[in-house]
Amino acid sequence: MSEPAPPPPAPEGAAARRTALVWDDRLAGYGFSDHHPMNPRRLALTVSLIRALGLVGDEDHPVLAPRLATMDELLLAHDRDFVAAVEQLSLPGADPAAGLPWGLGTEDTPVVEGMDEMARMVVGGTLAAAEAVMEGRARRAFNPAGGLHHARRAEAAGFCIYNDLAVAIRWMQQRYGVRVLYVDYDAHHGDGVQQIFYADPDVLTLSLHESGTYLFPGTGFPDDLGDGEGYGYSANVPLDAHTEDDSFLAALRETLPRLAEAFGPDVIALQNGCDGHVLDPLTHLRFTTRAYEETVRIVGEVADTRCQGRIVATGGGGYAAYSVVPRAWTLVWAGLAGLAAPDALPADWLRAARLEAGHELPLTLRDPPGAFPPAPRRADIEATNDRTVRALLRKILPLLTGWGLAF
Ligand SMILES: [Zn+2]
Repeated sequence: MSEPAPPPPAPEGAAARRTALVWDDRLAGYGFSDHHPMNPRRLALTVSLIRALGLVGDEDHPVLAPRLATMDELLLAHDRDFVAAVEQLSLPGADPAAGLPWGLGTEDTPVVEGMDEMARMVVGGTLAAAEAVMEGRARRAFNPAGGLHHARRAEAAGFCIYNDLAVAIRWMQQRYGVRVLYVDYDAHHGDGVQQIFYADPDVLTLSLHESGTYLFPGTGFPDDLGDGEGYGYSANVPLDAHTEDDSFLAALRETLPRLAEAFGPDVIALQNGCDGHVLDPLTHLRFTTRAYEETVRIVGEVADTRCQGRIVATGGGGYAAYSVVPRAWTLVWAGLAGLAAPDALPADWLRAARLEAGHELPLTLRDPPGAFPPAPRRADIEATNDRTVRALLRKILPLLTGWGLAF
């Protein structure tokens, strides 16, 4: 491995304004079966909505093609035996039972023909985003197909085969020697990414998620702070079930800027899973679209202050494929790109999406205030989340700042 290059200078001129969207119809090939919750139509509908609103395609907002990640790139975050097993299990007629030692062939993550290629394309998409940002061709880049944060070094899990984020973070580290702040507000704990970097003090992971007491994968508590040299570089905020926007956003505002100040990142990797939305069928959080719009604004401010604006962003979970995902990720894209997105959904897009969904859909990009009834026990939930945030900060800030002073 050659010596890493120094972190690149801040993008200048046109590149300083540029935000790239990673897309190609081949990315919509990531799916398991017609009845699996990971419905790839959510991605195509997101991109068609972004296009219908005129938010992509000019010089400042280009579309970048993904590519297939190479074996060497996958090995940045995965074991060779695991990748070889995925390749074998991708062949026609593979025995799903042979996948079980690798977390494949389960109800969540079934064995499907061609899955190696479909998962490599997602990794190659997040690598394309990371390359554009680190090479100074764009300030930010967004791969909505990425964000497969549950995959482990040698195990698929939770709909995730290869961990595109972990590969891209390792690639940025090895190529440029950068410190990476990973921010994950998917409803599920970002366990795969956390585990891969658990002993690494150059990657700080922050995951805000529905508490593992109620939801897969059952991990991600404030005491899970890292291991060895990486102790103090894993931060977890398990949110109470039924947490709403304000309480979640307060937790983000209390934690992210302080951790970023103590850590000093060169780039932020942002996982934008939108399964915390109140309409999502798999989780018990009660976010509205405001959570996505505000989070990107908060993360963008931290990136502008701490790391010259650099953000490598992905999608993630999101199982209300028609009513939530396209709207949430269009807002994420617009926020990253600094574009004002109009609130009215284009009539043609809405008609086609409604026909395909077979049910009514929200009429506006943003959920109107008061669209959903307040959660019962709101005050209790807010108090619980507040205690969780305080417990985390009490533990982690001395570790981060203490070590900073020692240098
Ligand atoms: Zn999720």
